Amino acid sequence: MIKRIRDEIIATLESLYGQEKCGLDFGTPFELLIATILSAQCTDVRVNIVTKELFPDYNTPEAILMLGEKGLVQKIKTCGLANTKAKNIILTCDRLLSEYGGVVPKTLGDLLTLPGVGRKTANVVLSNAFDIPAIAVDTHVFRVSKRIGLAKGNNVLEVEKELMKNIPENKWSQAHHWLIWHGRKCCTARNPKCVNCALGSICIEGKKRLKAT
Ligand code: SF4
Repeated sequence: MIKRIRDEIIATLESLYGQEKCGLDFGTPFELLIATILSAQCTDVRVNIVTKELFPDYNTPEAILMLGEKGLVQKIKTCGLANTKAKNIILTCDRLLSEYGGVVPKTLGDLLTLPGVGRKTANVVLSNAFDIPAIAVDTHVFRVSKRIGLAKGNNVLEVEKELMKNIPENKWSQAHHWLIWHGRKCCTARNPKCVNCALGSICIEGKKRLKAT
């Protein structure tokens, strides 16, 4: 991608979504880790409703282990995939206590050793809880990046690497939010609003779609 176009895309996204933050409510790295695990195939709004009830009493590995897997399933059942998520959260709490002194680790490698934690979750925690530059590639980031032309990869790891190359490091964490919000508000999976999109004249997919109308 030509640098001038890339810079224009990044500047446009920043002007549109510069104030947007992580959609999950959290007060500690542990809370964000749990909220992000719960957010798989679930909306941030729903997760926030669940964690608002859960975290006042259960926001440490010890407290969640005391609650137990069955108790946790009941607390998180409206997030979907409750059995799998509860199992992973219990195993993660166990590992945090046995390997990391009950503290959420600050490296990608360590975070990836936690059950139920993939690159997306790990990068969300690194960037939002620890201010460590990272780009978490979720479904919105994957789709929007490829449509715009910021990435061409066929899997999340390839897209993550391309975005890290195409976006200045000091904007990685924010760019993740910009792409998510653009995907939610404008570049939706079905029927993206190319006609009204601020990137319509420079987006690869947008130019194709606009020409075809
Ligand atoms: S022009 Fe269309 S495809 Fe491109 S980012 Fe905008 S909405 Fe998405």
